[in-house]
Amino acid sequence: MRIFDPHIHMTSRTTDDYERMAAAGVRALVEPAFWLGQPRTSVGSFTDYFDSLVGWEPFRASQYGIRHHCTIALNPKEANDPRCRDVLPLLPRYLAKDRVVAVGEIGYDSMTPDEDDAFAAQLELARAHELPALVHTPHRDKLLGTQRSLDVIKESGIEPGRVVLDHLNEITVDAVAGSGCWMGFSIYPDTKMSPDRMVAILGRYGLDRMLVNSAADWGKSDPLLTVRTAEAMVAAGFSDDEVDRVLWRNPVEFYGQSGRLDLEDAAPEPIFEGNSILRGGS
Ligand SMILES: [Zn+2]
Repeated sequence: MRIFDPHIHMTSRTTDDYERMAAAGVRALVEPAFWLGQPRTSVGSFTDYFDSLVGWEPFRASQYGIRHHCTIALNPKEANDPRCRDVLPLLPRYLAKDRVVAVGEIGYDSMTPDEDDAFAAQLELARAHELPALVHTPHRDKLLGTQRSLDVIKESGIEPGRVVLDHLNEITVDAVAGSGCWMGFSIYPDTKMSPDRMVAILGRYGLDRMLVNSAADWGKSDPLLTVRTAEAMVAAGFSDDEVDRVLWRNPVEFYGQSGRLDLEDAAPEPIFEGNSILRGGS
């Protein structure tokens, strides 16, 4: 099984996690720029963090044979802090870098006017840099936040197939399914989606434009929930080829639109015969 985790915050994780992920078949990942929990008080904290996302963290991942990519943005929560908004003019410098595969996480936290401005400005950056966009949907007022995000995306003129709306669930998936945007799901130990609920959504909505991630970060989370979801898919009767599509080929297709994925020799194409993998990743 080969796994591509399209949304995981490795900065918050230990080397034990890298080791366990590699052993379980995780071969590539995308680490979106986000809120670190402790509020930032200056632009310098952003640039140090971005430098680590394009420098130190890919090095750490490479020691475990995992390909590390990232997305860069001013996150929705800190878009409300005037001390943080000055990072916006610095983003183009990072969006030009090799391993930056999207603009994100952008979107809404509390749906304030400042968040509106930062969201629209960064969708424009995605267009200008010909990069996909990763849109975080809010934890509170989720359905309203998702619908409003879809409106802003439409207004921006960015091609919907270059946008993923993430952290979706049974309540919000309907609104996104018909939009042409990609649908991201974060599988968590207690809250949000579980592997079994995810499998039910895949059964109902199909595998097109579906991304499954662990979104593991500094909160209670588990970097192996992508693998657990793959196992739950098999248990529910999905074929190994379908599992490979959701957990590898879909994220490759979405982030591949950046033209910057570095996956050469990362994970050989498995050969499927019937329902069992004969060769390929572990
Ligand atoms: Zn995140």
